[in-house]
Amino acid sequence: HADAAMYAAKRLGRNNYQFFDPDMTSHEERRVTLERRLRHAIEHAALRLAYQPKVSVETGQVTGVEALLRWEDDELGAVRPDEIIPLAEETGLILPIGEWVLRTACRYAQAWREETGQPLAMAVNISAVQLNHRHFVATVKEVLETTGLAPASLELELTESALVLNPDLALETLTELRALGIALSIDDFGTGYSNLAQLRRFPIDRLKIDRAFMSHAVTDRQDAAIVRAVVALARSLDLQVVAEGVENEDQLSLIRQLHSDEYQGYLCSQALSGEALKAFMQEYAKRSP
Ligand code: C2E
Ligand code: MG
Ligand code: MG
Ligand code: MG
Repeated sequence: HADAAMYAAKRLGRNNYQFFDPDMTSHEERRVTLERRLRHAIEHAALRLAYQPKVSVETGQVTGVEALLRWEDDELGAVRPDEIIPLAEETGLILPIGEWVLRTACRYAQAWREETGQPLAMAVNISAVQLNHRHFVATVKEVLETTGLAPASLELELTESALVLNPDLALETLTELRALGIALSIDDFGTGYSNLAQLRRFPIDRLKIDRAFMSHAVTDRQDAAIVRAVVALARSLDLQVVAEGVENEDQLSLIRQLHSDEYQGYLCSQALSGEALKAFMQEYAKRSP
């Protein structure tokens, strides 16, 4: 048992020391089970996407959606992306998963366009591993061609850490993607060690303020100051701002005061299945003036 725990500690503690912890083996067990079930889910097409609306602060209209991974496993129940993605990155499974996400989201957006005659702006989260993979741009091009989706309908959400991992490669990749007409945003902005001088080099359209700040911005003056500073910074760099995790009217009026362009959050809607999104959009169109 001690050996197993040591082994688990070594595997888990690659970058930081982990001392003996009896829970460590159960962490490792969970990890092994997750990996086995995740491979099974990929093979059996058991992954799903849900779509969360993005809303214009000014008009209240839905401006597009973000695709979010969902997985309901027979053995494990619902597993959250915060657990799936890091494991997928460690095991390399993020490449097939990420490609599936991209293709499924693009196919959905194109089907939407064909059914309704209206474009649907689709944002897809891209892992650092995908962005730094040498075939990434080719994969994106192939998916757009195969699904028929206009590049202008696609937005890729990247994290600060994905860009700074290999800034020269990231710059080249982003420049190519931008040239195709794809929109680029920085996700979870404010949580990384953002070096502004570095960020400025990248052809970015949008910053998404992490929901950690929104959750306290109304009551916590420091969080409010961060949101204010991020919006001001974005303005000065000609970037659009999206506030994540807006759950109530107080938060909405705060970001309205701060002139954020768009928001996402439970105040409008959680992420919905493809079918539920269609019903939601019809209802929403009736509601809004
Ligand atoms: P994210 O890209 O920042 O996505 C926003 C997360 O906040 C989503 O969680 C969404 O459901 C949640 N959220 C939205 N509005 C609210 C709100 O008002 N209140 C609260 N409490 N939460 C809200 P989710 O779906 O669990 O995803 C978590 C993270 O996992 C994502 O954060 C993203 O980083 C990652 N992720 C999800 N799907 C994918 C994917 O397909 N590929 C990659 N690479 N990462 C993904
Ligand atoms: Mg995102
Ligand atoms: Mg985000
Ligand atoms: Mg986030």
